[in-house]
Amino acid sequence: MELIVARGREDLVKARRGGTVALVPTMGALHEGHRSLIRQARVRADQVVVSIFVNPLQFGPNEDFSRYPRTFESDLDACRAEDVDVVFHPAAEDMYAPDRQVGVSAGQMGRIVEGAFRPGHFDGVLTVVLKLFNLVQPDLAVFGQKDAQQLALIRRMVADLDLPIEILGVPTVREPDGLALSSRNRYLSGDDRRVALALSRALRAGAAQLTPAEIRRTARAVLDEAGPELDVDYLALVDPATFTEVGDGFEGMAVLAVAASVGSTRLIDNVTLTLNPS
Ligand code: AMP
Repeated sequence: MELIVARGREDLVKARRGGTVALVPTMGALHEGHRSLIRQARVRADQVVVSIFVNPLQFGPNEDFSRYPRTFESDLDACRAEDVDVVFHPAAEDMYAPDRQVGVSAGQMGRIVEGAFRPGHFDGVLTVVLKLFNLVQPDLAVFGQKDAQQLALIRRMVADLDLPIEILGVPTVREPDGLALSSRNRYLSGDDRRVALALSRALRAGAAQLTPAEIRRTARAVLDEAGPELDVDYLALVDPATFTEVGDGFEGMAVLAVAASVGSTRLIDNVTLTLNPS
């Protein structure tokens, strides 16, 4: 089937074929991580919609909205190769009226960890995701664990607002050396990239420890070894559902998350681990 490019609600309605629909929201500059999400969508639904929209609402005034990579033609090739049915590529003017007033609040959970460093970011993410859900009306939506707090907040939004949509989280796809794939990796020079490897190295070293204190200490030591070129925003060991810090007695799944800048490129990464009773 020919790939359909939809620009607005009418195009989406016309493209609907019946059967189940899976949505994969992206900001484009598609890489193997996105393609892994698309493959999961493909095996679970009759029709796969990939949205490609660089959402101005989720970028702060000093963030990289204007220089965010836009590679629409090669994104279409990737979607064709993955047998995607519809690419939804709206214009920013069509998504947001100049006089818009109402949006989604991510609440307190949107102001901690990553949210503490990016005020308003998760409100912008949840607002665009809810709009995409309303426009595409999917049965299933697929997100990466790479953005673990985003995934947790989307699950929270679905629960809190009674959205009739199943959410699937997909493991992070990495380069062979451990670097998590990201559209922003293309900003990294060779030297930057070597520094950036400290993120995944720290997470691996931390995840090999047994207690929250050892996990935090070990991961922090690896980040410190990287030197001043790595500007760490946070290292957090949190409950995957609430993103609150876990204490010493915590049992079960936890997320070890890190954010750091290398030069002007800000990277995030995380791993999931299990804490057992001692
Ligand atoms: P983005 O285009 O960066 O907004 O990401 C779109 C979706 O792809 C989000 O659900 C991300 O979590 C997911 N994603 C980004 N990078 C990866 C990766 N390396 N592995 C798996 N999923 C990813």
